[in-house]
Amino acid sequence: MNVHDSEKMSGIFAESGCSQSDDINKADVIVLNTCSIREKAEQKFYSKLGRLRKIKENRPELKIAVAGCIAQQKGDALFKSFPYVDFVFGPNNIDNLQNWIKDRSRITENRAQTTGLHTEISNNGSHITALQDNPDYHNMILPIKREGQVRAWVSIMYGCDNYCAYCVVPYTRGRERSRPVNDIYHEVMSLADWGCREITLLGQNVNSYGRKSSNNIDFTELLVKLHEVKGIERIRFVTSHPRDFSEKLIGAIKDLPKVCEHLHLPIQSGSDRVLELMNRGYTGKEYREKIDLLRQAVPEIAITTDIIVGFPGEREEDFQDTLNAMSDIGYDGIFAFKYSKRPHTKALALDGHIDDKIKSERLSTVLALQEDITHRKNKGHEGSIVEVLVEGLSENNPERLTGRTRTNKIVNFHGIETCTGNLLNIRVLEAKQHSLYGEKA
Ligand code: SAH
Ligand code: SF4
Repeated sequence: MNVHDSEKMSGIFAESGCSQSDDINKADVIVLNTCSIREKAEQKFYSKLGRLRKIKENRPELKIAVAGCIAQQKGDALFKSFPYVDFVFGPNNIDNLQNWIKDRSRITENRAQTTGLHTEISNNGSHITALQDNPDYHNMILPIKREGQVRAWVSIMYGCDNYCAYCVVPYTRGRERSRPVNDIYHEVMSLADWGCREITLLGQNVNSYGRKSSNNIDFTELLVKLHEVKGIERIRFVTSHPRDFSEKLIGAIKDLPKVCEHLHLPIQSGSDRVLELMNRGYTGKEYREKIDLLRQAVPEIAITTDIIVGFPGEREEDFQDTLNAMSDIGYDGIFAFKYSKRPHTKALALDGHIDDKIKSERLSTVLALQEDITHRKNKGHEGSIVEVLVEGLSENNPERLTGRTRTNKIVNFHGIETCTGNLLNIRVLEAKQHSLYGEKA
């Protein structure tokens, strides 16, 4: 989601006549788009921002903006620690970048008040913020400069109302809001015209798309509608919430040929006790029943997940439940994290916060178990023929092309760049730990 937000910021810069600099020392404006999902992401940002001080000292005319969830969380306080920051704007105020760029000359002159195009941005001396709840953000159509042409992200909703006990997102990205179906449809149509072949629909909980707006369709109906768009060959979506993952959606994955056989369904923990403390709204049994139904309907489906280890109160037996769930379900891939304390969240006040050493041990155990499972799964593909959407030259080896299967596995193979954007059948010769290697079938 953050990467896609950056694409929107790049789009605004491009539309304003700015070009991207590949040398940070020569840039006139630097925007740091931040993530605050875990403490580690925050620390990375602070060390990066610290390094910009020197550049600004040498070139005081440089403008520095901080965007994203840390910006939203810290607001004006950022100016106190980092007075060389000029502009702080939140994830629902990306449109304000437009005005800031336009008013850059005025900002340099340090005038008193700047009013945004859509929402107000406040100007406190040379320090400007745009952090207010923007009730219309989901109705805006922002320019987007995309990183690639073959695959594209498409936002379908913003914010989140779930309040999982560990998660800062509802406090930084605000209330859940769905974009109007027609805006999404037109965006996908123009992507297809532009040469895009695969879209990934983005939201914190895509299963609840349309829930709060009377004139919108629901998520499966949205899939049916987008399925009509000629030129788009593949449709993906992230993230589904297990509580809201429905039989209707299973039907859509089964019946709509463009919807790929991959589901990211974050389990977070295998223990019912921990799931309840997390406020996730499902039990391990309910989760597994949904997976069973899905696998019956779509046997070739690949399933990936997110796991948090060391949530407050997680006992050894709870952790064992997570390992058991992983072994039983057999994920194609996981993202695993040590629980990280986040401001405002309910989990902060829970008893039984876990020592970092134990969290690290549990994380290593989870990752080692998954390495085995992934390796076994990937081995199972050797000799098979898979459909690959070619994304372009491999970054690691310019003699190879890279792409993905419908199940979202990376495949590398020898070929020429002009195949980019094509769907090719590839015979898998060798399974590596994180990718497959093959040849044209
Ligand atoms: N909306 C999505 C993903 C949100 S963030 C969902 O509900 O699945 C992506 C992942 O980060 C989460 O699934 C969770 O596993 C992890 N995460 C979020 N907050 C965290 C925290 N405080 N500590 C550790 N991991 C966290
Ligand atoms: Fe965070 Fe839960 Fe919302 Fe996902 S569903 S963004 S984990 S609060």
